[in-house]
Amino acid sequence: MKHRPVIIGSGPAGLFSAYMLAKYGYKPLILERGEKIENRVKTVEKFWKEGTLNPESNVQFGEGGAGTFSDGKLNTSVKDKEFRNKKVLEIFVEAGAPKEILYLNKPHIGTDLLRTVIQNLRNKIIEMGGEIRYQACLTDIEIKNSTIQSITINGKEKMEVDVVILAIGHSARDTFQMLYKKQIPMEPKPFAVGVRVQHTQEMINFAQYGIFKEKLPPASYKLTFHAKGGRGVYSFCMCPGGYVVNSSSEKEHLVINGMSNFKRDTQNANSAIVVIVKPEDFQNRLFGGLEFQQELEKKAYALGHGKIPVQLLGDFMQNQKSSEFGEVQPIFKGDYELTNLQEILPNFVVQALQEAFPNFDKKIKGFAKKDSILAGVETRTSSPIRIVRQENGESKIKGLYPAGEGAGYARRHYVCCYGWNKNSRKYC
Ligand SMILES: Cc1cc2nc3c(=O)[nH]c(=O)nc-3n(C[C@H](O)[C@H](O)[C@H](O)COP(=O)(O)OP(=O)(O)OC[C@H]3O[C@@H](n4cnc5c(N)ncnc54)[C@H](O)[C@@H]3O)c2cc1C
Repeated sequence: MKHRPVIIGSGPAGLFSAYMLAKYGYKPLILERGEKIENRVKTVEKFWKEGTLNPESNVQFGEGGAGTFSDGKLNTSVKDKEFRNKKVLEIFVEAGAPKEILYLNKPHIGTDLLRTVIQNLRNKIIEMGGEIRYQACLTDIEIKNSTIQSITINGKEKMEVDVVILAIGHSARDTFQMLYKKQIPMEPKPFAVGVRVQHTQEMINFAQYGIFKEKLPPASYKLTFHAKGGRGVYSFCMCPGGYVVNSSSEKEHLVINGMSNFKRDTQNANSAIVVIVKPEDFQNRLFGGLEFQQELEKKAYALGHGKIPVQLLGDFMQNQKSSEFGEVQPIFKGDYELTNLQEILPNFVVQALQEAFPNFDKKIKGFAKKDSILAGVETRTSSPIRIVRQENGESKIKGLYPAGEGAGYARRHYVCCYGWNKNSRKYC
């Protein structure tokens, strides 16, 4: 190569690409639109306290990527035939993650420890010859003869390139638009939307462990249901002893997600309960899913007057606004307001959730308790768009390698409801 490889984004996909390239002597350059983690943490905490959003550096954007404020769950249903997952866990341990992640069935790191792990990973990449630039957003690319020629950073700095790894995650909507204008092959894909539910961790522990609940670590769960009409409903990103967090990345849009610290020691368990949305719902329009997400996020912002809209499960079933909390006390990062979530969710989502909660209650006793707390809206379960790549991982545009969640091939969320057809490389 004439030029060093360039990686766009410093989430898990970008950081691990950089780590491997640096290890083998390629001196990669990472461009990250957000802040370095030390500053990003301050920006996000200020947002949770005061509500001032930085659209370039938030829970979705910045060093460490979207999962930096997360439970740091590392389990996957992808079979580890080539020991890649094991390698990832070893690199995490080398960067300071607890050694137990190497042998636990459901390893997790936690938001508090993850920060140091990311700093160590960054330092290791730099030590091995890599470089990271922050507040450096990819704003344009130049293509000639189906080959990438150059990229533009922050609308002004042009850089010639041979190889670009696009590890932009699922929230870089402006970048997706730019790639579309440049005719990069992309297609719509299924994703899921819904709400996040909070219960007391004690209730979940009892349902899962019975009399052994005092002796075992905070319990988790995984639930699936097929609603009438074939809509899949499932629990996603379950955070034992966690927080529900305002994860917005666009002004006047509101989206939530969950996180826990390493000890998972708050009073509440939370998880997203989401309903599958298919490209057919938007006549297979490329940006149909993305527009649907944005619409929901705008409505959530308006419903809660900029705060996280919240409702008790019992009131959600009755389609009425909540007025006070019950036994389950709210645990949020970011301000919240009692509302009626049915006002913003599409009918098919409301109906599927109303069918699923009683079913989940049969599997986990108390799941549909009236005072369980729901919050909206969960839209960023995965990317609504896939940046198509070939068998070798390259786009049809030579030199361009879509990677990670933004490439749209990550499939951990769909395993129970959708099948992945290896031959057609499509969900069916
Ligand atoms: C609150 C929360 C909790 C989560 N919890 C878990 C969990 O416990 N376990 C789990 O497995 N997953 C979890 N996830 C999902 C997980 O974070 C994502 O699947 C993962 O981060 C995807 O990695 P990625 O590197 O592909 O993309 P991302 O992590 O999204 O990283 C993309 C990066 O690219 C940068 N970027 C975007 N566009 C540009 C551009 N144009 N120029 C330069 N930089 C750009 C962004 O700033 C970002 O840092 C969680 C997500 C959230 C939001």
